[in-house]
Amino acid sequence: MKNTKYVFVTGGVTSSLGKGIIAASLAKLLQARGYSVTIQKLDPYINVDPGTLNPYEHGECYVTDDGAETDLDLGHYERFLNIPTSQANNVTTGRIYKSVIEKERKGEFLGKTVQVIPHITDEIKHRIQILGNTGEFDIVITEIGGTVGDIESLPYVESVRQLLWELGENNAIVIHLTLVPYLAAAGELKTKPTQHSVKMLMQSGVSPDILVCRTEHEISDSIKRKLALFCNVKKEDVIQSIDAETIYDVPNFMLEEGLDDVVIKKLELSSGQKPKLEVWNDFLKKHKNPKNVVEIGLIGKYVELRDSYKSITEAFIHAGAYNEVKVKVRWIHSEDLTIDNVPEKLNGLNGILVAPGFGERGIEGKIEAVRYARETKIPFFGICLGMQMAVIEYSRNVLGLLDANSTEMNSSTSNPVIDLMEEQKSITNYGGTMRLGAWDCVLSENSKVHGIYEDELISERHRHRYEFNNSYLSKIEAAGMSATGKNPKTNLVEVIEIPSHPWFVGVQYHPEYKSTVLKPHPLFIDFVKAALEHSLR
Ligand code: GLN
Repeated sequence: MKNTKYVFVTGGVTSSLGKGIIAASLAKLLQARGYSVTIQKLDPYINVDPGTLNPYEHGECYVTDDGAETDLDLGHYERFLNIPTSQANNVTTGRIYKSVIEKERKGEFLGKTVQVIPHITDEIKHRIQILGNTGEFDIVITEIGGTVGDIESLPYVESVRQLLWELGENNAIVIHLTLVPYLAAAGELKTKPTQHSVKMLMQSGVSPDILVCRTEHEISDSIKRKLALFCNVKKEDVIQSIDAETIYDVPNFMLEEGLDDVVIKKLELSSGQKPKLEVWNDFLKKHKNPKNVVEIGLIGKYVELRDSYKSITEAFIHAGAYNEVKVKVRWIHSEDLTIDNVPEKLNGLNGILVAPGFGERGIEGKIEAVRYARETKIPFFGICLGMQMAVIEYSRNVLGLLDANSTEMNSSTSNPVIDLMEEQKSITNYGGTMRLGAWDCVLSENSKVHGIYEDELISERHRHRYEFNNSYLSKIEAAGMSATGKNPKTNLVEVIEIPSHPWFVGVQYHPEYKSTVLKPHPLFIDFVKAALEHSLR
């Protein structure tokens, strides 16, 4: 059983400073020194999980093996650390209150007034320690969402205060991530916002052990000294985090600044080996020195907020580096695509990816994009809704079922080639009721995907309600589209391909969630390779 140490990461001044990347980079360095590390994110909103949030609000909803719908930062944690996360790695205020209220209804607090302190804070502290109590981790890093001073964050900061006290010195520390803005007119970096945000944190009884300062310009020693003086930390505990060309540079930046060293010292951990980052740096080198460029169209309806497709774009970065290719993404709004403008809008692409999504908006444009990729033999990759669109397109334009559709889009279509499973029909609640998490899939021998995965039994993560309607399977296969991956228990179709096309694959699952720096996803690797071949044609 390990004596788990805790690192809390809070944020000050503004949101979007990249707490998730700093947490993941620190975890990477500690992992590269030989420690077992995990990262957890606490989100202060009242949704039980982000599954019911519009991607425009919160970016992508990331899904774990155990079927948790989580914050996109968990995707960064997995991509950096190459270890899976789970429901325990993401907790929201909604989930905290839900469990406290359920306990109250069961009578677990009988006779007591249920209050934020101690009941909500006890629940938060319990959730923070779930991962530590497994005994699997030397260090648990807990990222507190939001910005210090927000009303919603107060119970979390209070829980951190209590835990720091209970766990004792050298067992838990606080890293405060803050902004040091540059005033162009004065030509100066300004420390005042950081001073105020540290004061705000101290008003809640928490003093930071380390300051990580986001900045666009180098922070001089004298500014570090000033920050140290005003914020009760030592100068070496002021860490600069300068804007990076890629998020994957940040672990090296933090290494240069010695963030891992100060953390280890404060937690009284034996310093262990120097971080081993050879594989990571090899990836970075390839990522920054591509030999070729391919352009891939990403067809989606949330393209205004690119974070909605975070895992897909990161998977392209991993697969691009693997192939020593720069993957340029052309963002294409599916609502803008029509039968007439598709040849012009998709002109010059080396690959077309039709993205996941929900609802009717933009689907006709996606179907036209599929048709264009199929007819002009551009490599095509359909993910989840993208795979469903490929089935609909094939049914309409090859089988001649002109009104083929998904019952998600048209519940009275006479050809529901994509339909709800029986068990989904009686579900009335939206939250957490889709087919979620990891499911097995058996790949057919001699199929393209079998060759790509070099395996027969795979496991991939899902997040959808609708499925390929197996009553159309024989007709569709007879017309030249094959179902080459199936769930071994339910026989649900998980993969379709067109063998006569150079690269046409649709998957009902989300391969992008499992792509990491150390293990780029085989489907993305092969798709990028096919795009490269297309570009050289
Ligand atoms: N809307 C589709 C479904 O629910 C696809 C979901 C997705 O792309 N994640 O089945």
